[in-house]
Amino acid sequence: MLIMMRLDATRQEIENVKGKVSQFGFTAHEIPGVQRVAIGVTGNKAKVSPDNFLVLPGVVDVVSVSKPFKLVGRDFKPENTIVDVGGVLFGGKELQVIAGPCSVESKEQILDVAEVVRNSGAKLLRGGAFKPRSSPYAFQGLKLEGLEFLKRAAEKTGLKIVTEVKDTETLSVVAEYSDLLQIGARNMYNFSLLEKIGEMRKPVLLKRGFSSTIEELLMAAEYIVSKGNYNVILCERGIRTFETYTRNTLDLNAIPLIKKLSHLPIIVDPSHGTGAWDLVPPMAQASLAAGADGVMIEVHTHPEQALSDGYQSLSPETYTEMMKQLRKLAPVIQRSLS
Ligand code: PEP
Ligand code: MN
Repeated sequence: MLIMMRLDATRQEIENVKGKVSQFGFTAHEIPGVQRVAIGVTGNKAKVSPDNFLVLPGVVDVVSVSKPFKLVGRDFKPENTIVDVGGVLFGGKELQVIAGPCSVESKEQILDVAEVVRNSGAKLLRGGAFKPRSSPYAFQGLKLEGLEFLKRAAEKTGLKIVTEVKDTETLSVVAEYSDLLQIGARNMYNFSLLEKIGEMRKPVLLKRGFSSTIEELLMAAEYIVSKGNYNVILCERGIRTFETYTRNTLDLNAIPLIKKLSHLPIIVDPSHGTGAWDLVPPMAQASLAAGADGVMIEVHTHPEQALSDGYQSLSPETYTEMMKQLRKLAPVIQRSLS
């Protein structure tokens, strides 16, 4: 349920409505809008009549929201949410590029890649330190040492850090070292992790599970936002289909659809979405043309030596060329790219 306040509603009237919501045992979420304040009501398991709120001073309308996601939905908040990651804004006019290796492998490797991606316009450096791998025998990441290397690279280049948080046990240390916490495809359904991150105010990059529907992705985001953390960026990273030439099938439909359903920013990861480096640049262009707020790209100075995802990683040359193409595209789609 959504309670719309009058344009001239006073603070006292807003607080009064929130108090009434709490009295019923529900949770009130104040949603500031450009024109008016709305109050989202969640937790209303039993039916409650809109009349209880319509009679209160300052209330102009009460709307019932039938979709399962509430706070992340456009019905609750029509304006785009802009997520601020240490001064880098997602969801505005400017397109953002996150780039870096799949995994942090050494101090030199992450520093070298950081220089390359910074020089061609990325503002955020990615790199996994705690890696959730499909095989227990595969490289699991440098863990804390990897986080230290990321921090050094950030200090040297001014890039913001995006790295994956694998579980609740390592959440506080990963949060300490990162500007944007990545929740990977394998963890999209880890509800205790989502809830813990929801209690923080740190920006989150929530990746779509490889067999998840768009509604399930939005419900995962709802877990985070319902705990009070509105700083969620969604990420389409491809889903499993019957096709085997590509690692995943990049679901470009998800971008305009999510833009319609939700106010949260959405970016695309064409590296995992395709699994092949030569498909990455065209799919990055397609993602931005479809309305994505940015892209996340795997880059390695020596892709053939990478400890994970080398085949889908761009080299410095192919990455720089892709960025040139994206820079030409940006004004055509009324966006900007630094
Ligand atoms: C990654 O970004 O390196 C990663 C593991 O991605 P995903 O969770 O989408 O598989
Ligand atoms: Mn990877």
